[in-house]
Amino acid sequence: MDYAKKFKVESKGKVKLDQIDASYKGEHEDKDSAQAELEETTQRLRDLQCLLYAENKRSLLIILQGMDAAGKDGTVSHVLTAMNPQGCRVYGFKKPSPEELAHDYLWRIHQATPRNGSVSVFNRSHYEDVLVVRVHNLVPKEVWSKRFDEINAFERLLFDNGTNILKFYLHIDKEEQLARFKQRLDDPNRNWKISESDYTEREYWPDYQKAYEDAISKCGTEYAPWYIIPSNHKWFRNLAVSRILVDTLESLNMKFPPPTVNIAEIKKKYHAALDEEKKASAS
Ligand code: AMP
Ligand code: MG
Repeated sequence: MDYAKKFKVESKGKVKLDQIDASYKGEHEDKDSAQAELEETTQRLRDLQCLLYAENKRSLLIILQGMDAAGKDGTVSHVLTAMNPQGCRVYGFKKPSPEELAHDYLWRIHQATPRNGSVSVFNRSHYEDVLVVRVHNLVPKEVWSKRFDEINAFERLLFDNGTNILKFYLHIDKEEQLARFKQRLDDPNRNWKISESDYTEREYWPDYQKAYEDAISKCGTEYAPWYIIPSNHKWFRNLAVSRILVDTLESLNMKFPPPTVNIAEIKKKYHAALDEEKKASAS
């Protein structure tokens, strides 16, 4: 299956989230049947990240958004299993600090964008500034409504400077969210994740869905596409995200840089004598 094609939001047209099946699982019945593909994809991703790092020309920005318990943290940890920490950083964006609020909303974001050769993973992002900010009227409509164009211009700037941007909306339904909250209540190791606002925010579910639909529709561009990933099944979510990362990195046709030294000469100069010595001592 071409995951990128299937889940990519076309740049024209309006997204309707309630028409998208959050339980979709493609060709696989369950986690076990997807395991081999998942492992192969993870290995491929590891090799491609190594190539990105070695080439040191371009970078990758992965943006994760979704409702509470949609699986942003789980996706971060899955994607990271395939990454050499040397070339990858994760940033979680929370409620802005007073210092952050004293700047424009993209200030804190821009500092976290990846340098050449590296990967940044955003757990939440500048999209919160047209999501939670809109739902809770944190700024007036005249302010947030301009941000779609500003975000498109910002992402264009990054793209023009060598950053490949992939944006994932992890799509779960409202019942699945409640089931996940319940699992957190029942698991002492995950009790720490629960806050009462998780429950009170559920009242705003339709407002958030509408805000997401707008953000995805208005900011789904060729240079920074949105993908809507059915995420009721965690294993399917991990598989779909990894496959899209792999396909995108493969399409870049990256190459290892040529050696800066004459390999044959180096071999002769530093290894030939040693090989001779070894041969002599063995005989
Ligand atoms: P969590 O991802 O569960 O750690 O929660 C982070 C919280 O920070 C969420 O409730 C977000 O809505 C909130 N948050 C992130 N970015 C912003 C923002 N720009 N303005 C207001 N709240 C934000
Ligand atoms: Mg939360």
